[in-house]
Amino acid sequence: MAKVAPFHSIKLNTRNVHHNNDKCTEGNNIEVQNKRSGSAGRPLCESCSKLP
Ligand SMILES: [Zn+2]
Repeated sequence: MAKVAPFHSIKLNTRNVHHNNDKCTEGNNIEVQNKRSGSAGRPLCESCSKLP
């Protein structure tokens, strides 16, 4: 089970998606200072949606 609480990046040049999987490369690339909890009303990242 790799699902985590939804989170997103506040960085302006990232895609407007949120992540909910700790195996997502893109989600893991978010610097801690840019990481915020919650989906921010954004769609789920397609990498996260494909991960188990
Ligand atoms: Zn993701």
